[in-house]
Amino acid sequence: MDKKSVLKEYFGYFTFREGQEELIDAILQNKDALGIMPTGAGKSVCFQVPALIFPGVTIVVSPLVSLMKDQVNSLLQCGIKAAFINATLTEKQHELVMERAARGAYKIIYVAPERLQNKEFISLCGKMDISMVCVDEAHCVSHWGHDFRPSYLNIKSFIESLSKRPVVAAFTATATKRVREDVAELIGLQEPFEVVTGFDRPNLYFEVIKPKNKYVALRRYLDLYSGRNGIVYCASRRNTDELYEKLSEEGYSVTKYHAGLPKSERDFNQELFINDKKEVIIATNAFGMGIDKSNVSFIVHYNMPGDIESYYQEAGRAGRDGSDADCVLLFSPSDIRLQKFFIENPDDNSEMSDREKEEIRALRLEKLNKMVYYSTNAPCLRNYMLSYFGERPKGRCQNCSGCNGSGTSVDITLEAQKIFSCIKRVKEKENKEVIVDILKGNSTDYIVKNKLDKIKTFGTMSDVAESQIEKHIRYFLDHSFISENPKGNLKVEDKAHAVLFKNKRLRRFLEKTDKYKTAENPASEVDLRLLTKLKILRKDLATKGSVPAFIIFTDATLIAIATIKPTNKQEFLKIAGVSERKFDKYGPVFVKLICEHCNKTVEISK
Ligand code: ADP
Repeated sequence: MDKKSVLKEYFGYFTFREGQEELIDAILQNKDALGIMPTGAGKSVCFQVPALIFPGVTIVVSPLVSLMKDQVNSLLQCGIKAAFINATLTEKQHELVMERAARGAYKIIYVAPERLQNKEFISLCGKMDISMVCVDEAHCVSHWGHDFRPSYLNIKSFIESLSKRPVVAAFTATATKRVREDVAELIGLQEPFEVVTGFDRPNLYFEVIKPKNKYVALRRYLDLYSGRNGIVYCASRRNTDELYEKLSEEGYSVTKYHAGLPKSERDFNQELFINDKKEVIIATNAFGMGIDKSNVSFIVHYNMPGDIESYYQEAGRAGRDGSDADCVLLFSPSDIRLQKFFIENPDDNSEMSDREKEEIRALRLEKLNKMVYYSTNAPCLRNYMLSYFGERPKGRCQNCSGCNGSGTSVDITLEAQKIFSCIKRVKEKENKEVIVDILKGNSTDYIVKNKLDKIKTFGTMSDVAESQIEKHIRYFLDHSFISENPKGNLKVEDKAHAVLFKNKRLRRFLEKTDKYKTAENPASEVDLRLLTKLKILRKDLATKGSVPAFIIFTDATLIAIATIKPTNKQEFLKIAGVSERKFDKYGPVFVKLICEHCNKTVEISK
């Protein structure tokens, strides 16, 4: 099978993203490869596609054991024979996987770097036909990166010990020259074909605010994002615990994650977040490496991280499916003191000489200074980060708080569209309370009697708190997107039309400027009510299959479905993210739902 057919058949995508095809071609020509791409760019496809084409097995070395299950699950959903070998397997499972692996039953096997020294594993490798060794998060091999792991240094000798040298491909999101050189040398890449893609993530909005009270600022932010998923990063475990306590006491849908929690609790909490059972996870930077949760709408940094690499990587966990997402940093000068404390009191790394330790200390201070500059002075936040990674951006981005004026802001386009379209659908003849009931999906006597539960926007904001829907309406009234007539009925003003009909993006500013700004967005007609139904169906299927919802279809795919409304297999397969196999597994129930929604008879789902 050729690379394009593999991409469509197994992953449901039609076109390669920047850098993917070149890397895949090089790997398929048995060249070593080094892919440097930002988080969310699609590094996995670069090795998964060749892995399926190569005759033998691909060993993927990845640092975080707890994520392997998800990654393998995701591959199994796509019909790819994959497994992981790590300490979380029971003895029986381990035996079974080893026995199957020796028989050549898998195309992709994930292991942690420590496993490469395990005798049993080495003997298994002697029995397998290994086509490729792929090193994920390859910056972990370098002292100069921000996440050095000594066990990564064993990868080179492992590869050298194999009877036949496989293709070696390494991937990272860390682009600094020094790390790149280290990766090639310390992993032993042989004249690697190197791709460094653009680091820009146009769908991310960057913002820095310096609130008087961070907690109040965070709460305002979470209120506005009620119903969406996000991560709040804290600099310390204590901070994480305190914030979690306070927010959960106040009734927010939160969970928490840091390395000080027992493993079982960490795994449990992570699952709650991944499976959409909790909207927000409060975490230290121990959370998230390799997390492929595609529907993360916002990342708030409650404290400033120690360097731009860490910030960009953590912020980059938002909007992985290409949907718009917000990345906010809540800055205060005490964050600098905390980071300095971390630098002056490093984890004991006795493998390093005193000179090396001093070099690293100086390097970390230099990196911290750049992070502080980002947080306090950078005129365009995006450009500052892109320049840091060696790019030369053209002109200001106009999509960050540096360009748009400071002040907390959130993207409220979807909320605005729901509210404006609801007012339109009731022909501008209902008041605020009724509009809230319709959007919330409250079947009050009035609603039922007037058949308002039959209109398209009924229940489209069922996951948002009523008080929040009211606040949105108040905001739109204050800013003349809508008005109230003397009877109290709401009316949509001309100013709202660009948001409603031309999909102009709308951001809400909360502090200082409190003005709105709109930006272009490709026009589309999302059927919001269908989208809500699709999400419910996806959640049911996810619960039944014990898989995270986004593994079934990502948010971006669901939005495309709610726009195109495919009612047969042919139409369905044209949507990005729908593979043959995914269609066969889930398509028919989705088609049935869409047909019911559109009052169409179900066509044969072939
Ligand atoms: P990375 O490892 O670079 O952070 P992933 O490999 O997890 O990113 O990919 C991020 C998201 O992009 C995933 O949901 C993935 O399915 C999707 N993706 C990857 N390649 C493509 C493509 N060619 N077209 C559309 N979506 C893609």
